[in-house]
Amino acid sequence: MATGTRRLARIPADGLSELIEAGRRMGAVDLALGSPGWPRPPKAMIDQACAALRDGNNQYGDMRGNGELRAALGQSFRTPADPDTELTITVGAAEGLAVAMLGVLDPGDEIVVFEPFFEPYLVSIATASAVPRFVRVRPPDWRWDATALAAAIGPRTKAILVNTPNNPTGHVLEEDEWAVIAELCERHDLLVISDEVYASYVYDGGQHISAADVPGLRDRAIVVGSFSKSHAISGWRIGFLRAAPALTRALRSIHIGLTGGAPVPLQQAVARSGLVDGQDWDPRPDLQQLRDKAVRIFRGVGLRCTSPRGGCYVVAELGPYGREDCRSFVRRLAIDLGVLLAPGQLFLSDRTSDSGFVRIAFNKPHAYLDTAQGRLATLEPKR
Ligand code: PMP
Repeated sequence: MATGTRRLARIPADGLSELIEAGRRMGAVDLALGSPGWPRPPKAMIDQACAALRDGNNQYGDMRGNGELRAALGQSFRTPADPDTELTITVGAAEGLAVAMLGVLDPGDEIVVFEPFFEPYLVSIATASAVPRFVRVRPPDWRWDATALAAAIGPRTKAILVNTPNNPTGHVLEEDEWAVIAELCERHDLLVISDEVYASYVYDGGQHISAADVPGLRDRAIVVGSFSKSHAISGWRIGFLRAAPALTRALRSIHIGLTGGAPVPLQQAVARSGLVDGQDWDPRPDLQQLRDKAVRIFRGVGLRCTSPRGGCYVVAELGPYGREDCRSFVRRLAIDLGVLLAPGQLFLSDRTSDSGFVRIAFNKPHAYLDTAQGRLATLEPKR
């Protein structure tokens, strides 16, 4: 019996959800998954969602996305977007990414991916029958090497995939890095797919720079965003795509054909909460404190952490625990101590080599991190 297409063979087994399930069964403190535990979703959004359901907004709506939401979103960016021609509301950034890949990659086309990367990228790329070309970035600064990036571009390259602020590394793309990407895109006539799901999580007074803010990239960029993290509503499945009008027309046709639109009452609730632009809703001060606490806790047991400038993860190199493969380290922490972290391998293309790092999600209540700290007190390197 057929068990799937050839393109499915390129999709790696989904490591993270298996791990989370096992951790939950064991009652571990879950610092592996970035599912928001903090901040709490804004009350205004919950109230608007209940009202939207009760008021009868329960059927198909504008499949490009709720008009009020697109209008508010378009105005919320540093470089405003036209809600009619440049914005589409998607079923989370997950759908946005898949639509972006399907919209611009033909079978056999190549896309440059910085590694480590958000695991599901490989699913979207494989679904489009395209081929990832990896460029490795390394701690502590996680910046890429311009020569390595240029070398990854070949005759079949169609796009560069970036993620800023980055999951897992926390790296936030700087102006000079964007300038290099813009120059390469122009020289080789490439698109950039820019995953900006963590746009509102930049710390220490830093600023998120979107691909749409970069001169020369605005017409070459597909920006993928989401309310999952910015407003802690990952279960509502509301994301968006921003692209120039001609690209938007193509992306919308795929989005509408695949989904029939994102959840209607929930889009309305987000739009009417009045919180889209982040003026009256800023989770950064809280998250920055949680970041500092996570870094303190894990440095305290000897792991080598760089304090991330953005996102909601700390990457920790194993340091004194480096004799252990990162997967056995994670297993030991989960089974012996009840603390669940994500092994670095999950974010690499070669799952067989040892990554030497773990990822720690810090968008959790303080009490959660305190429990983890208590449980880690007896942690020692293996002899
Ligand atoms: N991109 C990155 C980098 C992510 O971390 C996530 C969610 N963890 C997504 C995309 C998907 O977000 P959404 O919930 O909007 O589908």
